Amino acid sequence: MQDKTPIAKILLVDDETVIRETLCLILKEEGYSVSTAKTGSEAIALAKEAVFDIAVIDLKLPDVDGTFVLHNIKEANPLICAILITAYPTTESAIRAIQEEAYEYITKPFDVNHVKLVIKRGLEEKKLEKENQLLLGRLRSEKEKLETILQLGHVMSSILNLDELTKFIVEKITEVLKAKVCSLMLLEESEEDADEVLKIKAAVGLDEVIMKTTNIKVGQSISGWVVQSGEPLLVTDIENDLKFGRTNLPKYESKSLLCIPLRVKEKVLGVINVADKGIPGEENIFTDEDMRFLGVISNYAAIAIENAQLYGEVKNLAITDGLTGLFNHRYFQTNLNSEVSRVQRYPRPLSLIMFDIDSFKEFNDTYGHPMGDTVLSQISKVIKNNVRKVDIACRYGGEEFAIILPETKIKEALLVADKIRKSVETLKFSVGRGAKKKMTVSGGVAQFLPGMSKEDLVRFSDEALYKAKSGGKNKICLHAS
Ligand code: GH3
Ligand code: MG
Ligand code: MG
Repeated sequence: MQDKTPIAKILLVDDETVIRETLCLILKEEGYSVSTAKTGSEAIALAKEAVFDIAVIDLKLPDVDGTFVLHNIKEANPLICAILITAYPTTESAIRAIQEEAYEYITKPFDVNHVKLVIKRGLEEKKLEKENQLLLGRLRSEKEKLETILQLGHVMSSILNLDELTKFIVEKITEVLKAKVCSLMLLEESEEDADEVLKIKAAVGLDEVIMKTTNIKVGQSISGWVVQSGEPLLVTDIENDLKFGRTNLPKYESKSLLCIPLRVKEKVLGVINVADKGIPGEENIFTDEDMRFLGVISNYAAIAIENAQLYGEVKNLAITDGLTGLFNHRYFQTNLNSEVSRVQRYPRPLSLIMFDIDSFKEFNDTYGHPMGDTVLSQISKVIKNNVRKVDIACRYGGEEFAIILPETKIKEALLVADKIRKSVETLKFSVGRGAKKKMTVSGGVAQFLPGMSKEDLVRFSDEALYKAKSGGKNKICLHAS
């Protein structure tokens, strides 16, 4: 195998032509690359142009002192190994040589073999020093990475809110891998079919529209491929990677990207994509080391995400009604409390609608409880489809519903209530043997006004509902303030 060690470069400074030329010849024969200078200023100029490994400097030069030359050369080549040569050794010059951190101090006349040996030893020490520095640098960066991983793992496990957690993960990954783009995608149920799709939960450096509209099927594109295979992927040159059709190429700046599955045991929850490594002046291709690092982080991230998902599910179960999917009575009470105290502090409109299914007992008695349950869940769907995201639709009790409408005046609430009433009226419930039955609801609406309590608001909408019932059902009545 060929030795790849680069040829050592020597700077030889001596005003005595014979010594300079003889040493130059001998050192060149040894395989070194040698540059020579007759004066100190010549030597300093050379050191500014090139990096030398070794400097052999005569102490007594015509223009300046050899230690001065060494001092200046060290400024340009801090790692240089300097050998001072003198015909007039004095204690003073020896001390100066030590002060300037000369590697060796040789007196003239010298034995050429001795000089050769000193140079060889100097180069070996320099090589060791370089290797040590490299190792130290690597150890430092490994230590920093380990510390980051530990810290990240610790913080991740303490975040239970999924949105907050995924945002934290992508932000930290871009920071640590010095990338400009990172997205975290999770598998979710598709709105179109039974298959799961990947959706972006959090991202750095991506357009809002892309974030909201991206839907990737398992097996499709890079992320889908990684989910399907469960294997991480390091792409160093996307244009030439045959796994991806040209049409599927994402619009990244750089050609290199990382995609890693979020796995908990055998289950894949999603993927993390990292692209556009952006260290100024570097080639910016992700390395195996980046990949390993991302691998460790994603292990922590996957566990934290699963925990947050489970926590979210449990939390949802605690506030949701099982049959209808609407919020439950307890959630209604807590939410109404906070909405009422909010409008008590900053007066804003707030309305409440109460609904009750008309003659539901009769329906149950005729067609049975299970059929009644279907009616309840279908009417709940109508309610859900007719309210805004900010409205809180709840199952108040048996066949009664309550909707809290923040920022809504009674007239606007009436429109919502009537829309729901009319939609219910159009529903036809199959009651067996091809027969269909219609159902109706009655509603009461009230608006929160200064001086009222939360209980007043509930009572007033309930009274309005009673009015609707006694007025013939299938209608909405307002509480007259
Ligand atoms: P009105 O028009 O005056 O409201 O008459 P109604 O029959 O609807 O009122 P009532 O309060 O007499 O009856 C309510 C019925 O709702 C009685 C109960 O069996 C039924 N119900 C309550 N919860 C459920 C449920 O979860 N499932 C089913 N199937 N029925 C329920
Ligand atoms: Mg009732
Ligand atoms: Mg009823």
